[in-house]
Amino acid sequence: MSEHSGLIVNGLSVHYGQHQALNQVSLNIKPGEIVVILGANGAGKSTLLRSIGGLTPRTGGSLQMNGHPLATLKAHQIVETGLALVPEGRGIFGDLTVEENLLLGAYAKRARADQQQNLERIYSLFPRLVERRRQIARTMSGGEQQMVAIGRAMMSSPSILMLDEPSLGLSPLLSSDVFKTCKAVRETGLGILLVEQNAKQSLSIADRGYLLENGQIVAENSARNLLNDPAVQKAYLGGS
Ligand code: ATP
Repeated sequence: MSEHSGLIVNGLSVHYGQHQALNQVSLNIKPGEIVVILGANGAGKSTLLRSIGGLTPRTGGSLQMNGHPLATLKAHQIVETGLALVPEGRGIFGDLTVEENLLLGAYAKRARADQQQNLERIYSLFPRLVERRRQIARTMSGGEQQMVAIGRAMMSSPSILMLDEPSLGLSPLLSSDVFKTCKAVRETGLGILLVEQNAKQSLSIADRGYLLENGQIVAENSARNLLNDPAVQKAYLGGS
């Protein structure tokens, strides 16, 4: 693996008018690791992923993906560098079938030639989607729809996937399915930058984590150390 592989974010800032939503955020992630960003409502988690992906304008900082600077790239060009975002709420097309949704993820130039191979890889990772490939997406369960959204992002042949609160609105059972899915995706060599409010489950599958408070990174550590940190337990794990 080259020293340039993966995503490096340095001093990223975002403003909404006068309001500073992100203040000098720095982080990194390499293929093959799960890195979680924990933060309360409004901490800036969605803004962080959207601004990295080029969907929300940045007001400062530099970003590199696999050695490519991202500053001047548009969202679709950022996908071509190997970085894919699954937005909060999944953004799947409810009236299309599972397979049609997956194929829509293959528009990136880097992925067109690998479309069939990627589809097979995704079906082997998510056997439930094979059985349901012709099913209309909105009739799938929330957990299955999350699999479709992750599968669609994987159709662009990414090396890093960014997931915005994949467990949001899911029952505990379906949430744990989603976290198992993340582990299976990591096994294929991808890196996952995971934004979550579900601290316990996300830290239990992650390698490392960052705490985001009011738009700033206030701590960075291994997932194990964060799980055992009394301040993290108090703020995010319901401990006292
Ligand atoms: P949640 O977990 O509730 O989704 P979050 O950590 O993802 O929260 P963001 O959605 O990134 O937080 O929002 C960070 C801050 O920026 C909040 O104070 C929010 O109100 C503000 N904000 C987000 N989007 C906009 C926008 N388009 N215009 C103005 N302010 C915004």
